[in-house]
Amino acid sequence: MKIILFGPQGAGKGTYARMLVKEFNLEYIESGRLLREIKEQNTILGKKVKSLVDKGQLVPDELIGDIIRSKFHELENKDFVLDGFPRNLTQAKILDSILAEKHTKVDHVIEITLPEEETIRRLTARRTCSNCGQIYNLLIKNLTPKKEEICDICGKKLQIRKDDNPDAIKKRLEIYHKETEPISKYYEEQGILNIVDGVGLVDEVFNRILKIIKAE
Ligand SMILES: [Zn+2]
Repeated sequence: MKIILFGPQGAGKGTYARMLVKEFNLEYIESGRLLREIKEQNTILGKKVKSLVDKGQLVPDELIGDIIRSKFHELENKDFVLDGFPRNLTQAKILDSILAEKHTKVDHVIEITLPEEETIRRLTARRTCSNCGQIYNLLIKNLTPKKEEICDICGKKLQIRKDDNPDAIKKRLEIYHKETEPISKYYEEQGILNIVDGVGLVDEVFNRILKIIKAE
């Protein structure tokens, strides 16, 4: 089973990806983590990625494609969940050509949706300790500080991350939608797009995902 998972920040994509990995014994390919791993390797690819990242430049689609290709090569034909790739239409087409080389294709594309207000509500609930870096979340019971806005560990004041203010979140969402709408459309035309409502408890949303996978 080959699955692509995408959704806006705060939708819980990483959580559901890990749950799918466990449920179906899949390989978890998370593009951000993969890039960080490659960067540390003393290979031609690793050096290329390192020089771009160190200069603060974006890794071009073609290069990300090469990285994904080499990862698939390593995995042979093992099933996977892809998270963070493809991020745009060019990458989606690259992925298709890589899979075609392997005589395989994506089975399910799952897009988790979340209304903008809910994304803002979730992301603005995150807090970090200004002193020790401990992370809190006011919406998650066991991640809520005992005293309001105060760190449980060191007693210092908690902070909201600078880019977790509503305006910055809205800007990030705008970029996300601009990049992902063409991908949704692309997979919709292929008849493999499934939209899952990301509002609800983790288990509820995961069950919606399972229903889709098991129905086909
Ligand atoms: Zn602290």
